[in-house]
Amino acid sequence: MIRFLDIQKDIKVTEVQGRYVTNEHVFPFLNSLNNKFKVDAIGESVLGKTIKSVTFGSGKHKILMWSQMHGNESTTTKAVLDFINFIDSGTDLANSISTNCTIKIIPILNPDGAEAYTRINANEVDLNRDAQKRTQPESKVLRSVYEEFEPDYCFNLHDQRTIFNVGATPKPATVSFLAPAYNEERSISSTRGQSMQLIVAMNKELQQYIPGQVGRYDDGFNANCVGDTFQMLDKPTILFESGHYPSDYEREETRALIFCAMLTGVKVISNQNIADYTQKEYFEIPENGKLFYDILIENAQIIDKSLPKDSKMGILYKEKLIMGKLTFDPTVDILEKNNGFFGHLVYNCLNNSDLDKIKSDKKLVEALL
Ligand SMILES: [Zn+2]
Repeated sequence: MIRFLDIQKDIKVTEVQGRYVTNEHVFPFLNSLNNKFKVDAIGESVLGKTIKSVTFGSGKHKILMWSQMHGNESTTTKAVLDFINFIDSGTDLANSISTNCTIKIIPILNPDGAEAYTRINANEVDLNRDAQKRTQPESKVLRSVYEEFEPDYCFNLHDQRTIFNVGATPKPATVSFLAPAYNEERSISSTRGQSMQLIVAMNKELQQYIPGQVGRYDDGFNANCVGDTFQMLDKPTILFESGHYPSDYEREETRALIFCAMLTGVKVISNQNIADYTQKEYFEIPENGKLFYDILIENAQIIDKSLPKDSKMGILYKEKLIMGKLTFDPTVDILEKNNGFFGHLVYNCLNNSDLDKIKSDKKLVEALL
């Protein structure tokens, strides 16, 4: 059997890569699609940028996906482009999905945020806290698409920071999922249950590639979040969070894994075998922890004499957009006593070769001064 991860290598939309993804990067691909795909302008952002959707398939199971509602969360956008390309591949699986499902995808819901590389939109509103009031044009666009299309399932597509680990383990949460709650009690309705079962199916697929690197997101209820709102409207909704894969700051590995998860979820919906997966297994996926730094420096007192013995320094990268290019700038957080944190990269200052590595990293040296 062909693994989904191998399929992704063949159908990857290579023109769109890296973390900085805007309308300008995505529209040429959308414009190149054949007539199996219907591309529509569905509205405008605060600054008048076009928001587009792609619709395909003719089946009765309707799936709505939207990505980059947070402008700087582009990994799932790359994955939906790959998914669209896969549908065009004409394989048996692609054709059966097109026959059984109708899928509508909004690749970039927040094009202003995408351009500025910000979470928020141009009015500085977090669209994922605007689901009830819908004060923003982008929130209205999503809602009107939802009402017109009347999806049976919703995929809410995001990125998460590098800080997340799985449970208490030193494994990064490369992918996290959530079946959002629809009330304060976090009850399990039939629709929320289906979200859980779909997540179980996707987790099973991912465990083959990234054992122990899938986490479950916190399910605190917030009606202002879009996922919670759609779940309240009784539509099985799944939150996807693309996270860190070792040394993959461009998130191209994670992109491939999200493609695999997406294809698995859609396949299970297409074949209507959701009942093969149990809700119980959803709760067996460990919750996310927040124990990672991008760099952990041990025995930091060697480089900063003001620190006590056995000090650790945690470094997090700040992403900055400068002249259309994204940079990752280290920022320092000191953890004098703590031992419970992990680093995607660990340097021990008692070790001369690690000290040399620190010294050769100009940006890191600047941050440490
Ligand atoms: Zn997000």
